Amino acid sequence: MIKIYNTLTRKKEIFKPIEKNKVKFYQCGPTVYWIQHIGNMRAMVLADLITRTFKYLNYDVKFVRNYTDVGHLTSDADAGEDKMEKAAKRDKLSPQQVAEKYIKIFENDVKELNVLEPNVKAKATDHIPDIIEMIQILIDKKFAYQTDLAIYFDISKAKNYTKLSRQNLEEQKHGAGSGEISDSQKKYPFDFALWFFKTGKYKNALQTWESAWGIGFPGWHIECSAISNKHLGKTFDIHMGGVEHISIHHTNEIAQSELANGVKFVNYWIHNEHLLINNKKMSKSEGNSYSLEEIKNKGFNPLSLRYFFLQAHYRSKQNFTWSAMKSAQNGLESLRNKIKALGNDYGKIDKKYQKKFVEKISDNFNFPQALAVTQELLKANLTDKDKLATILDFDKVLGLNLDKIHKEDKQVKLPKEVLSLMKQRETARQNKQWQKADEIRKEIEKRGYKMKDEKI
Ligand code: AMP
Ligand code: ZN
Repeated sequence: MIKIYNTLTRKKEIFKPIEKNKVKFYQCGPTVYWIQHIGNMRAMVLADLITRTFKYLNYDVKFVRNYTDVGHLTSDADAGEDKMEKAAKRDKLSPQQVAEKYIKIFENDVKELNVLEPNVKAKATDHIPDIIEMIQILIDKKFAYQTDLAIYFDISKAKNYTKLSRQNLEEQKHGAGSGEISDSQKKYPFDFALWFFKTGKYKNALQTWESAWGIGFPGWHIECSAISNKHLGKTFDIHMGGVEHISIHHTNEIAQSELANGVKFVNYWIHNEHLLINNKKMSKSEGNSYSLEEIKNKGFNPLSLRYFFLQAHYRSKQNFTWSAMKSAQNGLESLRNKIKALGNDYGKIDKKYQKKFVEKISDNFNFPQALAVTQELLKANLTDKDKLATILDFDKVLGLNLDKIHKEDKQVKLPKEVLSLMKQRETARQNKQWQKADEIRKEIEKRGYKMKDEKI
């Protein structure tokens, strides 16, 4: 039984999947115009921990994450310049090259943080037909209207527009940015653009597509609705994103998806809190951000950062400091040393500790407490081999590569003689001297070691 705090109901609820033992999960991914900072990485690691929790509890997870490579303006509302185009000018590249460049860096970073590959990584520019189709439905149903500059979603048609944010629209006015884009034909300041025409301030837009209504490019919000609809269906289980998306981005996603499809969009909304620095949100525009590269350059292992993220609940803000980073690195190092000291023998998973661990991860993904159970286990009155088996089982969720240190440990302990025989056998195999290789294998086995050839 998994309990999730659902932003939609402001309650912790028991998770009931749409299809038995399956989870359809969408996370708003990065806008690929710059190197993602470790605040963005926190969001990615938290979604990964949640995905791993479901997998550990035997759910079949379909996890979709998008890449915003068009339409995200410098304000979350319909104002400013397209972030991709701004970056293209800065880097003297085409928007496509900008996307390619930063997707590559991002994918490398998340891999180093041991984040599992999503089932679908969806670029907005690969989904233009899906986006156009959804906008057409909204136009046909009269939930959207056209002006000379754009096609807008008519929020007066969305009965429960603020059901996620629970905000008073007037209070939200400053966020909705009714200011900068002065489209006198817009009916209501909070109506948001589904499609911008290649005209006016966007007349030189670099990424545009043909549509029945005219050449242009999609707004940012429709992208997540169309992509999730295509890969997860009209209604899916979980949608995740940063808390800053509650009032505009996710509110708009719900309104347009529910009016286009006529059914509930998402059952559980999960919002992660931010990574702070000096008690302010880490953000590129504030100039207070660090990339993973910078963390590594200071001598930190990416998995130490993952360990750092494990120490705070996803609904709590987490403050980044170098000394906290140092403690996390020491914490992980000490955990690794304790595991090394357990030896190489696997025993049985201890059911009592496993139950405790499962209780923590199922209670709204309480990873800090799950980490505490790991520490408790190490101190418990159990055999070393049972501790080892249990902790490596927990690591399927924690993702700290604890099984790898065990393998490293094994290699280090091999006698020189055996290592030399292994090398000779490898050479024989490379030279296709199969008989010789087999004889060496027997020599190794005589010394009490079994060979297993694995693809590396
Ligand atoms: P962006 O590229 O700004 O659209 O952000 C991509 C993802 O990272 C979004 O889900 C954001 O909510 C998240 N994010 C951005 N800044 C932070 C931060 N300081 N802490 C945690 N998550 C963040
Ligand atoms: Zn989104």
